[in-house]
Amino acid sequence: MATFKDLFIEDDKIKLPIGVEIDGTTYDTVTISEITGYAEEAMGSKAIGNNWGKMITALLKATIVSVEGYTGDLLRFIKGLSIGERDILFLAVRYVTYGNVIEGESKCRNCGKEVNYTIDLDELELQHEGARSVTRTFELPSGLKIRKPDGTVKVLRKGTIRNATGDDQEHTYSLLEKNPALWKTAMLQRIVVDIEGEEFTTIHSKSLSKKDRDYLMVLGNEYEQAPDSDTLVCPHCGEVTEVPVLNPGFFR
Ligand SMILES: [Zn+2]
Repeated sequence: MATFKDLFIEDDKIKLPIGVEIDGTTYDTVTISEITGYAEEAMGSKAIGNNWGKMITALLKATIVSVEGYTGDLLRFIKGLSIGERDILFLAVRYVTYGNVIEGESKCRNCGKEVNYTIDLDELELQHEGARSVTRTFELPSGLKIRKPDGTVKVLRKGTIRNATGDDQEHTYSLLEKNPALWKTAMLQRIVVDIEGEEFTTIHSKSLSKKDRDYLMVLGNEYEQAPDSDTLVCPHCGEVTEVPVLNPGFFR
């Protein structure tokens, strides 16, 4: 299994599974620094608030030292990264700042007792190993039903979806806090590239069945990346719960 640690080619240099294509060239090798006061201040700014997308952008802007071969606008690179690869770099900054062990505390939802846990980033396995494309084709389980002017109904099933980027994340995050379904509508409208060759609109996004929407949201995340969470087995009662690997509280 490929692990998070395998992505490090030097102590402070990461080779991302996919990277960002800008003007025909792919950039995937990033040197990072540990977190500084500048980064901490940038992440704590009022303009960012609880927008996780903006917070990651601010963190990466302050901690990316260089992107191999790239001399353009750093923000363009950061916002062009997939959400999963931004998370990889977030964890990498955590790693070079504090080392491989994440310690946390969680309350068991079954017995209510406090449980201490540790996550060893050296052992963290990547998900969807080897899945390294920016786009994937899909075939909807139910299909998008379109009523044509003559009254007949056409069912659209096949299309293309791409990985959501930092830009998508920043633009939709405020909806996620308000109403996750609205967020899903907006995110799908952005990341579905086409359906049967046609533009995928907001109305299309709302018209899909819940099953199809959920299928697309899962498919949109099927590329090599770090897991959001790890499993924790309660030592008191055996209940299995999830604990976050990606924690906005790391640097606050
Ligand atoms: Zn328990």
